[in-house]
Amino acid sequence: MPGLSQRVAIVTGSSSGIGQSIAIHLAQQGANVVINYSRSKDGAEQTLETVRKAGVDGLIVQADVSKVDQARSLVEQAWIKFGKADVLVNNAGYEKRSDFLEVSEEDYDNVLGVNLKGPFFLTQAFAKRLSEANLPGRVINISSVHEDMAFPHFASYCASKGGLRMLMRNLAVELGPMGITVNNIAPGAIATPMNKSLLEDKPKLNALLSQIPLGRLGTPEEVAAMTAYLASEDASYVNGATLLIDGGLTRNYHEQ
Ligand code: NAP
Repeated sequence: MPGLSQRVAIVTGSSSGIGQSIAIHLAQQGANVVINYSRSKDGAEQTLETVRKAGVDGLIVQADVSKVDQARSLVEQAWIKFGKADVLVNNAGYEKRSDFLEVSEEDYDNVLGVNLKGPFFLTQAFAKRLSEANLPGRVINISSVHEDMAFPHFASYCASKGGLRMLMRNLAVELGPMGITVNNIAPGAIATPMNKSLLEDKPKLNALLSQIPLGRLGTPEEVAAMTAYLASEDASYVNGATLLIDGGLTRNYHEQ
């Protein structure tokens, strides 16, 4: 029997890139999946089609995770359709390049809203539901190497992912006694639509590749496999950890 059968997973931002791959991978392990998008309905429908091919059920919920009422409603939809959820994957993410001196309040709010406020209140709604039913659960945040590593011209993104690192550590302690584990996955450079401009800029891409010991970008499927591990029984004692998946990028410091 596949490792995640009888489980229900909510995957935010599963209309594209890493989130789409995670929803499909969890479905292939037997989980029913709540697919979320904010604007890309077609992408969400593609995800659902592939999820159903795995022989499990799926539900599409449109919700802007940066809006607390919509985030809460996303969690509620899982309970209405499936009667429970076991896994919450906070994957939805957004970045906006800007020199620090030029960052607008609106851009700051948009980035922090999706990347930090969303996971904060989604996890709260999820943990409340689990606590009422006395059920265990897994929270998996798709963070970034930039929860730890500087990324000039992306100050709001770094602030959001750094905040997500500390939120994870705090909740691992606060929710652990309830049987809810909380962990982060920190990808390096992954080939997804988020990196469209990088993938189209050969000199910039080659400069980045020269920093990655494995000499290539990661794939959404590789991140999805790590997510499936954290959702599985094999990860029952993993709590409060950030798992890096970056081809060695963050370990690659050279003396000149
Ligand atoms: P992507 O292809 O651009 O996908 C982003 C996803 O987030 C889309 O499904 C998008 O849905 C959703 N989303 C954006 N704003 C949303 C909102 N307000 N409410 C709900 N969903 C929203 O990006 P990706 O590369 O797969 O990124 C996924 C996660 O991995 C992000 O958290 C990102 O920070 C992280 N990450 C990516 C990389 C990388 O190199 N790609 C590296 C490190 C970390 P809609 O299109 O429907 O809005």
